[in-house]
Amino acid sequence: METLQGRTAVVTGSSRSIGRGIAERLAARGALVAVHYARDAASAQDVVDTIRKADGQAFAFGAELGGEGDAERFWAEFDVQRRAFSDDGDTGVDILVNNVAVALRDQFEDATSADFDRMMAVNIRAPFFIVQHALGRLRDGGRVINISSAVTRLGLPEVIAYGASKGALDSFSRILAKVLGPRGITVNVVAPGYVDTDSNADWLRHDENAWEETAAKSVFGRVGEPEDIGDAVALLASDSGRWITGQHIDVSGGTRM
Ligand code: NDP
Repeated sequence: METLQGRTAVVTGSSRSIGRGIAERLAARGALVAVHYARDAASAQDVVDTIRKADGQAFAFGAELGGEGDAERFWAEFDVQRRAFSDDGDTGVDILVNNVAVALRDQFEDATSADFDRMMAVNIRAPFFIVQHALGRLRDGGRVINISSAVTRLGLPEVIAYGASKGALDSFSRILAKVLGPRGITVNVVAPGYVDTDSNADWLRHDENAWEETAAKSVFGRVGEPEDIGDAVALLASDSGRWITGQHIDVSGGTRM
């Protein structure tokens, strides 16, 4: 297992679900992980405690994304908690994972401008400006990994606006790879398929058939776990990922191939 010792990773929305899986995998490889949350400080602390119990390093910081000035507040709060973690004065970042998104289920006819604006604000505007405001602290040779979704390939009508926001994230990531390439920073998209998370619990675990039908969509015949995504992110974050950039990596267990 390649080490991430000496690297600092920031994972947005890592108090639970996929973000938690990513945070725990990066920490297991030796990275210091900043566990970000919106409101659920207790869950974020639980992730930190779990990482520390396994001899890893982590701290939590909270910042709501999706409003004016969110990226500035995000990094200001990161700085406060990073300095509280250690007085070495180092607020640099090696690995930035933009994982937060809101996924509102709207058919085209029912989509509202309020839902549309909310998803654009959280799913594309926030990561765009989080990276912009991190240009000075992102270290050369670093990694930006944006969590998109297989919906941009699958084209699911029930999440049309969400899919549009993820399409924008895909496009942003490809261009950003060119912008940050001269500094040796790779930028890639990881696109999960169906994963067993809080955001899916209402429909995935509600109906008896839903689980089986969803599992059958993967060539492996199972539903994805947050750790499946975490391992893919850790791979891109490692030194072995240095020559991979501008890519859209489907991490869906071969969903609907
Ligand atoms: P969850 O909804 O289960 O987790 C959300 C996380 O994001 C929590 O840590 C939450 O913090 C934080 N968060 C939510 N809203 C905000 C906000 N406005 N500002 C700051 N933080 C916020 O997400 P998933 O694990 O399901 O999804 C993670 C990523 O994976 C998303 O980009 C999603 O689009 C993508 N994805 C997910 C799939 C799935 O099957 N679940 C499939 C394909 C892609 P708090 O705990 O404080 O609320």
